[in-house]
Amino acid sequence: APVPPAADAKPILQLVGVRKTFGSFAAVDGIDLDIREGEFLTLVGPSGSGKTTLLRMLAGMEAPSEGVLSLRGVRINDTPSSERPTCLVFQSLALFPHMTVGANIEFPLKAKGVAAGARKERALALLDLVRLPRSYYGKNVMQCSGGERQRVAIARALSHDPEILFFDEPLSALDYKLRKVMEKELKDLHRASGKTFVYITHSLEEAMVMSDRIGVMQAGRLVQVGAPEEIYSRPATRFVAEFMGEVNVIEARRAGGVWRAEGIGELKLIPPPELEGADAVAVVVRPEFLRFVDGDADNRLTGEVFNEYALGSRIQYQVRAGAKTYLLELSRAKAWRGEPGQAATIGWDARDAIVAPLA
Ligand code: ATP
Repeated sequence: APVPPAADAKPILQLVGVRKTFGSFAAVDGIDLDIREGEFLTLVGPSGSGKTTLLRMLAGMEAPSEGVLSLRGVRINDTPSSERPTCLVFQSLALFPHMTVGANIEFPLKAKGVAAGARKERALALLDLVRLPRSYYGKNVMQCSGGERQRVAIARALSHDPEILFFDEPLSALDYKLRKVMEKELKDLHRASGKTFVYITHSLEEAMVMSDRIGVMQAGRLVQVGAPEEIYSRPATRFVAEFMGEVNVIEARRAGGVWRAEGIGELKLIPPPELEGADAVAVVVRPEFLRFVDGDADNRLTGEVFNEYALGSRIQYQVRAGAKTYLLELSRAKAWRGEPGQAATIGWDARDAIVAPLA
């Protein structure tokens, strides 16, 4: 499999100080980003964080209010989408319902004046690429399933051979199982096509599965960009850590060289170099790193187990200690043997926690 583009790969798209304001409100508030040629970059963030607005600027449907957007070093702030080597795939897909699969895929080629024979040849090759049978060429799109239509839309997007494909939550209308299948297919398709993919989604899980890099947006800003593993294990802020799913966040403060947390007391923690001087941090402990302890653990506290959820091969427990509720996740093989309502000591080792800025 081709390796993801390296950090020193030339950017295909470059954003410098890009902003988009609506009246006095900045939907996108100063973004600097190099999108690498051939990468699969996913932008994630809560609703209203500016993902769609950013994507619309990249695709040429909106012009930035400030900043510079360039394609291979050429400023394209005001270049309309029709003159950019890019294509946008939406959730709604915007397929022509009265047309066949083939006619949908060929539509952009027909508009460009490509001859019928060449169009069909290209459409059939694209059906292979998106793994639809060639016999679908003459089928009406309304007779296709949701996942099949998704593939037709992607084949159509690829038909005019764009250099960059933008995806605006294309899988959100699909049911869970199909979405999981399509995530993997999109990843394979990215590899097979060699194109640059820029994708937006609410779903971090989706982003983790598919992307070479993930950019996390918060209130119009890009708060962290990195490989999925980096975002997961070294979140730049507490916001990123909390966005990455169910986590335990413990606020710790340092006084007289000792870290303490309310309800726990003294804490052992290992701050990263950039936080060595800080006196207040967020200690992020993922549920799978919190455990019931009878022997050693760097950090421990006692609480009451009050809920248990079976997740198949894993079990989650909620443990209440003072005003705080902690979440633990264990494999079924290591299930806790106590009764609900019983007191238990839980804990974690310093090296298993992530220390992030408090803000
Ligand atoms: P979602 O995940 O819900 O789609 P998003 O992260 O894509 O959200 P945007 O759609 O980019 O967010 O919107 C960012 C902010 O900008 C929102 O507060 C939105 O209301 C505002 N906004 C977007 N477009 C306009 C517009 N044309 N006029 C005024 N405000 C807008």
